[in-house]
Amino acid sequence: MTCQELADFLLRYLDGELPAPQGESFAEHLALCPPCKAYLTTYQKTVKLGQSVCADPEGPVPGDVPDELVEAILAARSRA
Ligand SMILES: [Zn+2]
Repeated sequence: MTCQELADFLLRYLDGELPAPQGESFAEHLALCPPCKAYLTTYQKTVKLGQSVCADPEGPVPGDVPDELVEAILAARSRA
């Protein structure tokens, strides 16, 4: 497997959708290729970072929250 192929397979590998033979050569390549291992680690950190941002209660309100709910929360806060 080449570095380019590894990058192409990365998403499927992380989703557990990579077929076993490819998963094996993926892991083999990772063991032999430090730059690709670093790439994978960086990618996983980025994903985690994105998730923790979404889980932040002080963060921006997700787009699918109804306006009435947001207004009710804001009203409750201003009364407190
Ligand atoms: Zn590589």
